[in-house]
Amino acid sequence: MGRTALQIGANTFAFFTRNPRGGNAKALDEDDVAELRQIMTEHGFGQLVAHAPYTMNLCSANPETVGFARRAMAGDLERLESLPGNYYNFHPGSHVKQGAERGIELICEGLNQVLVEGQATTVLLETMAGKGSEVGRSFEELARIIEGTTHNELLGVCLDTCHVSDGGYDIASDLDAVLAEFDRVIGLDRLKALHLNDSKNPCGARKDRHERIGDGHLGIDCFAAIVRDERLRKLPMVLETPNDLDGYAAEIALLRSLAGEGRS
Ligand code: FE
Ligand code: FE
Ligand code: ZN
Repeated sequence: MGRTALQIGANTFAFFTRNPRGGNAKALDEDDVAELRQIMTEHGFGQLVAHAPYTMNLCSANPETVGFARRAMAGDLERLESLPGNYYNFHPGSHVKQGAERGIELICEGLNQVLVEGQATTVLLETMAGKGSEVGRSFEELARIIEGTTHNELLGVCLDTCHVSDGGYDIASDLDAVLAEFDRVIGLDRLKALHLNDSKNPCGARKDRHERIGDGHLGIDCFAAIVRDERLRKLPMVLETPNDLDGYAAEIALLRSLAGEGRS
């Protein structure tokens, strides 16, 4: 993963901690982990943003699903102790007819069971598009999850640009206003990482269909504002656009040029 990142001009990346559809994780190869850590130090990588499986739902109505989610998260966090100081991003979940109240309660319960004081990984709640019964579309819901979690010094937020726009926060027209709102409701000190995706749909659509940078409703100016923003430019930024490796290399080069950086 580290070598592939270097190949495309990246100095951070996301990775799935196990099959994104769920299931068991492969056993850790300690030599491989050591080599990655070496590459990261040598090339000045920023923090990595591991991604939990999509099927993980801490607030499902099905207790077995909740049980899997808690076990998977606990297991992933244990494994990530081999790569200390990085991030673990997850989708708060879908409450499926139980209501957001109950959803938030279950998410907090899960986090209270799984987070371990002093762990080396910060867990990030991803801002969601609000598709179906997704919890975490509004900054208020994310704030309530943080407030309801005992060891919330271990929690942060990963802002997905497609999701927040789809969720009704108009970052394309007024990034500043959205960041001010984020700061008021959650606190900008909680913002730890960004998913950079353009959106196939207009603000408020709640669809969650990612588009390549500059080709969607957010547009290139929005991304220029993001990579130039003093509050954001040092955060790890991860692309989840529909692309291949060459496409990602081009997007990274584009974002670096918008930020006024050469390729490092
Ligand atoms: Fe995600
Ligand atoms: Fe995302
Ligand atoms: Zn998405």
